[in-house]
Amino acid sequence: MALYWTFGSLPELNHLSERERHHVLRTCAGPTVYFRLIRTAIFYGLATAAICLTIVSRYVPRDTTLIVSGIAAVLTVIVSYQFCMRIIRAHLRLTLINGFRGERLPICLGCGYDLKGIEGDECPECGKGVVVREEEHHTLNRK
Ligand SMILES: [Zn+2]
Repeated sequence: MALYWTFGSLPELNHLSERERHHVLRTCAGPTVYFRLIRTAIFYGLATAAICLTIVSRYVPRDTTLIVSGIAAVLTVIVSYQFCMRIIRAHLRLTLINGFRGERLPICLGCGYDLKGIEGDECPECGKGVVVREEEHHTLNRK
């Protein structure tokens, strides 16, 4: 399982310049995407800490409660950040697929390989199909 810490680590955006990457992300996820991502992760981390403090403090000493709650909060921040990055990646992929119906994708959605100038209907790197059929329409609810 790959971890995505920045938008530069998403394979779909590897071949883009910094400016192009920001443009694509603003189109798919909105202009304040990093702010919302971090705000959401911190919110869930604080909520987890509050729940842990309430529950764990009944059973263990105060020092242990603080340590357990702190660890739970940090883990929740990391997990929720990764979860949000995966949702943003899914939206990015859907935007690409729906925007290129009937055409060749500019990059492979399987591995991020730059397909400019490549002939054929499969990615030379991973073998995944690179042409989106005209009748295909994807949503987040369907795989
Ligand atoms: Zn590929």
